Formats: sequence, structure tokens, C-alpha cells
Amino acid sequence: MQTRMLGKLEIVFSYTTHFFLSSWRESRPGILFLTDPAGYVQQSTPLQVGQTWTPGSVHVHRGACLADHAIFKQVVESGTIAAGQSVDDANESSWAAFPLEQKDGSIQGVIGLILPTKELDFDLASYMRGFMPLILMGHDAYIQHAISQIVMHINQFEHYPDLVHSVLVQVADVINKGYCSAVKLDDKGYLLPQERLMADAADEKSAQHLGQIIPRFVNERIKPMKTEDNRFVIFPIYCEGKPLLALFLHIPADQPDLVYDEQDVAFIQQVGEKISYTLLRAINSDEMRRDVQKKEMLYQLTKKIQASIDVNEVLTEIMQSLQRLYPYFHPDLYLTVETNTTLPVKQLTFHNGEDETSSRAYLEGRLVVNYQTGEEQSVMVIAAPLLGKQGIYGVLQLTSTELVNISDYETDYISILAETAGTAFENAQLYQQSRNLIRELRLINEMAQQLNRSLNLDEILQFVTKMLLETFEAQYCAILRKVLDEDTLLVLSSSDPDHVGTLISASVQPLQDIFKNKQAIILANPNTETMPFSLIPFASLMAVPLLQESEVSGVLLVSDTRNHFFSFDDFKLLEIFGQHTSLAITNAMLHSEVERMVITDNLTGLTTRRYLNDCVQLSLENDGIGSLVLMDIDYFKKINDTYGHQVGDEVLIQVSNLIKRSIRDTDIAARWGGEELAVYLPRVDLPTALNVADRIRQCVQNETNPRVTISCGLAKWDKEALQNMSVESLFHHADIALYEAKRRGRNQICIS
Ligand code: GH3
Ligand code: MG
Ligand code: MG
Repeated sequence: MQTRMLGKLEIVFSYTTHFFLSSWRESRPGILFLTDPAGYVQQSTPLQVGQTWTPGSVHVHRGACLADHAIFKQVVESGTIAAGQSVDDANESSWAAFPLEQKDGSIQGVIGLILPTKELDFDLASYMRGFMPLILMGHDAYIQHAISQIVMHINQFEHYPDLVHSVLVQVADVINKGYCSAVKLDDKGYLLPQERLMADAADEKSAQHLGQIIPRFVNERIKPMKTEDNRFVIFPIYCEGKPLLALFLHIPADQPDLVYDEQDVAFIQQVGEKISYTLLRAINSDEMRRDVQKKEMLYQLTKKIQASIDVNEVLTEIMQSLQRLYPYFHPDLYLTVETNTTLPVKQLTFHNGEDETSSRAYLEGRLVVNYQTGEEQSVMVIAAPLLGKQGIYGVLQLTSTELVNISDYETDYISILAETAGTAFENAQLYQQSRNLIRELRLINEMAQQLNRSLNLDEILQFVTKMLLETFEAQYCAILRKVLDEDTLLVLSSSDPDHVGTLISASVQPLQDIFKNKQAIILANPNTETMPFSLIPFASLMAVPLLQESEVSGVLLVSDTRNHFFSFDDFKLLEIFGQHTSLAITNAMLHSEVERMVITDNLTGLTTRRYLNDCVQLSLENDGIGSLVLMDIDYFKKINDTYGHQVGDEVLIQVSNLIKRSIRDTDIAARWGGEELAVYLPRVDLPTALNVADRIRQCVQNETNPRVTISCGLAKWDKEALQNMSVESLFHHADIALYEAKRRGRNQICIS
């Protein structure tokens, strides 16, 4: 502070010296000097060209201290001009001095003149008094000097804030009272409170004081003014009609004695006027730079959107750009769509509250500015919807608890940034949708192909189970089939093999709803207790009905213990799976029915001769041994003749049923010809087959009504003994044995 003030005094002194020298006789020795308020000599100017004289008793060279000397003491005490003499060894010297006073009366320094008394042919005190107005001129000259210094100095700054800061520092230096600040103006001449600069940015008191002043002026165009108490001055700087900046001089309350005078006002006005063009240039070029920066950011963002579909990357970039461009805003991101971003995301809630602005922006699909100025604090909220062509994906919200004034130009840019994010979401979603679509089509194709390839129910169930687990990456899946005319479901297939064959009630939830509504369901309920389902515990479940002739014939379900595990796309895909699976299962069942019909003899329910042939052929290929029994009803013609053909048929059925009853599941009984029947026993040796045949023979003899008997021919094959047995030769052997049984008197068994 001291040195800065003296810097000013020194300039005043140097001007003063200049005026002084023009009235001083060149041949007269003397010294003009300046001290600081403590009495230290700051400047000392010899007045004679080539002067050798020095006052012996007083040291007035630069750095000497006059604090204890009468020159200084008298001036400070009287506060006005003082004069005197001092005696030294060689001669006497005379002096006169006067104080440099501040407007508040404090002494800022002393200007003095000392010369040999013998040279004194005039009244030194009057001379000095006449000299005092020159000090004022010196001061004016200093002001002009300071202004030209300021103007010269600012040219070295490229950026507006640096430039303004340099002006503020220098203005504060000259005025040396209170604080000096600047607030940028918007295009209409209103304050932009977020863009404020202070001479001493580190001085919190000055920032605080400015913060108290600004709210009083935010709602009006700034005009030049000085308050009545002379403690606050505003001077707005305009250039070519464009509002640039308001300069503020303000004295805080804890310095009650200080006021600004006309000189201060004139000074700040002059500074403002002189720097306006340079300021305009700096502001314009800064704005241009900012524009370029903003356009570059947008360009980079747009490039990113086209180059990748990474929403997170675009969002991160946008949030960073916002922070760079608007450091006084706190950005928040509200999303209404799922995305895997690392940024903190808030949920939009549609009730009155802190994010009311965002909700409005979302609902109205446009940028909303909400501005609340309170006594204590002002809050500005800007909410811009993340707008795509097909929807709104969330809201970008900027909040400032400072006083902020933002132009339409800036809000437009914020809108564009938010829309860029919207486009990114849109692209990503479209990309994901088309990927999902392709995945779905591929899966459906594969499924349809696989399902069409097979009419085997087991194969189909196995395939569908595998497909469900793989496609949905779920922990559990099952295919359930309704048991005809019962309120139960049979587990046809499941990822847990233990469940296959289990019966579960169809009246438990969520199954009941499926049967009632014939519609698929998706549950993401973390409350597993609310879903009593007998097979497995789950948190997420999807189930689709399998429809057959518009009736629910079964259920396809996948589940997982993780919450919200399935997406809506999964659900839609499962529905398609359900349609295909219904069809495939129905087809497979129809097919097995037709197959059964083809291999079954209508009258007797035994298999056909052809089927038996195939089974024997398979056994010959795969087994080691096997036995064949051919049977013929004895004197069957008589039965027909006696009782009629219909009773003959009934007898044939009776015999067939007795055969079925007498053999195991693995044995095959067939109708070989009209009333000739055959049983093939795979992997059964001759003695066992003989037992079976005899058991049948006895049953027929005892249980038929009208009573009949049968004759049997028995043949066997053994891979080790007879390598090349054919189906035909096996039957031939059995036939020969049958013929032998007939020949021997019937109702008996012969072995080939
Ligand atoms: P055996 O075998 O003891 O020599 O005397 P048989 O009278 O049974 O003679 P054979 O086996 O040659 O006669 C077959 C008769 O069985 C001819 C036919 O009238 C009768 N028959 C064949 N198929 C059927 C049928 O499906 N229903 C009825 N009712 N009769 C049949
Ligand atoms: Mg016969
Ligand atoms: Mg017969």
C-alpha cells in the first residue's frame, strides 16, 4: 500500500519538479525533495546544473530520514507550510516544506526545498506557497499519466478478463479507496452477475461486498450513477452502442469516513471512455473464440455420435463441455431410459419439488428457465429436454445458486447440446433395436428350422429348453403341459431334470392368470413371497401360454432369482417362441398319434405285420438273441361258420388281449395275417419264449368264449451261432414249426 501510494506521489513529484525547474534560476543551488509519511526521503533533485553544494547539517539524499528533523516535524504538526534555517559548519541553509494531504486530512508525504541561505534573495515561504497549486496540476497530470498508462497497458492483453483485471488493479491504485470491480453487461445493458471481476480476486471481503450490491441492480439497464452518500459509483462502458461492462467503485460499511469525490468519478469515466474500443475488441474476440470453441464442441459431439453409438461417451462429453462453458452452473442429468452410463443419473419424479423445472421441460418438450430471487439466495434452474425425433430421453438440468443472467443465445446452445444427447440416445436405441431385431429374426429362424426338422416330441422339448436357457441367459426354464380335463400341469421338460414328470396345480399364481387371460406375463417383482409357485423361487419370471385351437394347452416359462432380469424385448421374443413351440408340440403330438395309428391293427389293437418286421430287423441288427412265436387259431373257420363272422372277430380280439396281457412292454405282439398272430421277444432265449408261448396257449384254451385253442411255432436266433439270420428266414422257421404243431394235432407248441 505504502509503496503503491508513493508511486503515485513520485509521479506527482516528478511533474512538480518539471514545473518548478522552469521558474528556477539555473545558477542557483538548491535541493527539492519528497519524503514518505514516515519522513524517509524518496526523491531528491538538485536544482543547479552541475551542483556541488550540499547542506552540511541536513541529509536529504534518497533514503535519508527526516523524521526527527524540524523540517518534517513542523510540517506534520502544523499541517501547513513551514520554513526555517539550519546552521552547519560552513554556512547556513534555509528550508521550506509543505505537506501533501489526502482528502481525509492524512499526510501522504512532504515536499521540501533547501538552499544556501546566502542565495536566498526572496521569501522562501511565499515562494513555496505559490508553488502549491502546481501540486494540483501535478496531480491532474498524474491522472492523465495514469489513464494513458492504463490504455497503453491493456493493449498487451488478449483476453477480456486479463484486460479488465489490469484496468481494475490500476484504477484501484489511483483511487485508493474502497473496492474497484467490474461486471460484464449483456446485449441489453443488464448485468451478467456471473461474470464479475475484482481488482483483488483473493480479497473475500471485496467479493462479498460486490455480491451484496449486484442484486439491487440486476433488474435494470445499468446507467452511470453515484449514490447520494458518495460511497458507490457505477460507470457502464458502451462502445458503438454495445453494452460492454459496468465499472463499480464501492466502499464497504466498515470504512464509514470514506467517500468518492468528483475527481474519482471523472477518473473512472475517463478510464471507461478511453478503454472502450480496446475492451470491445477483446470482448468480441473472446466471444468469437468462445463461439468457435462451442462450435468445435458441437462438431466433435456430432462426430462422436456418427462414429459410435456409445451414449455414455456422448453424455460425458456434454457434461464436460457444460462445465467448461458455464462454470457457475451445476449440471444434473435426469434420464427416463436405461443406459449404462458411469455418470451420476437422477430419476425424474413428477411431483412438485426440487426438480419441478425438469419435469416441466420433460413434459413440455422444451427448455424451461426457472428463476427465483430470494433474500438470502437466488436460484436459477435451466432444464433442457434430451429431445430426439421419436421421443424424449431425459432432461439436462443446470442449477446455479449464484445470481446469474444468461442470454437467449446461451440457452439456445444448451438446448442444442441437450438435443445432441437426445440424438445420441435415439441412435443408440435404433441401433439396439435393429440389433435386437436381427437377433430375434435369427433366433426365430433357427428355432423354426430346428422345430420343423423334427416331429419327435422329446427332441423338440430338449431343443426348446436349451434355446430358452441360452437366449435369455436365465437360471431356470420349464415347459408345462395341461393334463386333459384336470386342473394340473405336467412338467414336460425343465432345466432341472428332477422336475420332469412332476405335476403341479394350475390354480397357483402366476399360472392361474395365464389360463384365465390366455396372455403372457412378465414379473419383475422382488417379493417372491407374493408369487407362490411350487417349482422354484424367483424374482423375475416370464411365462407364455401354449395355445392349441385357442385353448391354453401348456405354459412356457423362464425365471431368474435376479430382480428385473428380463427386458421387454425378451418378453416379446418369448411370446414369439411360445407361438412356435405351441405349434411344434402340437404337431409332434399329432404326428406320434398318426404314427401310432399306422403301426396299429384296427381290430385287435396289436401292431401291424410291417411294424413287427421292422422291429425284428432292428433287433437282428442290435441284439444278440431273440425269439419269435407264430400263432394260428385252430379250426377258426368253424367258429365263423357256427357263430358268424362277428363272433369270430370278437374271439380274435379276446385272443389278442390275452397275448397283450401275457407279454412284457419290450415284447411286440402283431397281427400277422387274418387269424394268425405273432409275438417277437427281443433278447429272449428259447426256454423263456417257450414259457411265454405256453402261458398264452393255456390262457386261450381256458379263457376264450366261445372257446378256441391256438397252435404255436417257435423260432429263435443267436448272433453267435447263426450269423446271417434274416427276418424272412426267422419267420420261415417259425412257420414251419407252426405247420408241424398243426400236423401233430393242434393246441400245442413246436420249436423249429
Ligand atoms: P386250422 O387253422 O386249424 O387248420 O383251421 P382253420 O379253420 O382255422 O383254417 P385256416 O387257418 O386256414 O382258416 C382261416 C380262416 O379264418 C379263414 C377265414 O374265414 C377266417 N378268418 C380269417 N381272418 C378272419 C377275421 O378277421 N375274422 C373272422 N371272423 N374270420 C377270419
Ligand atoms: Mg390260418
Ligand atoms: Mg386257423
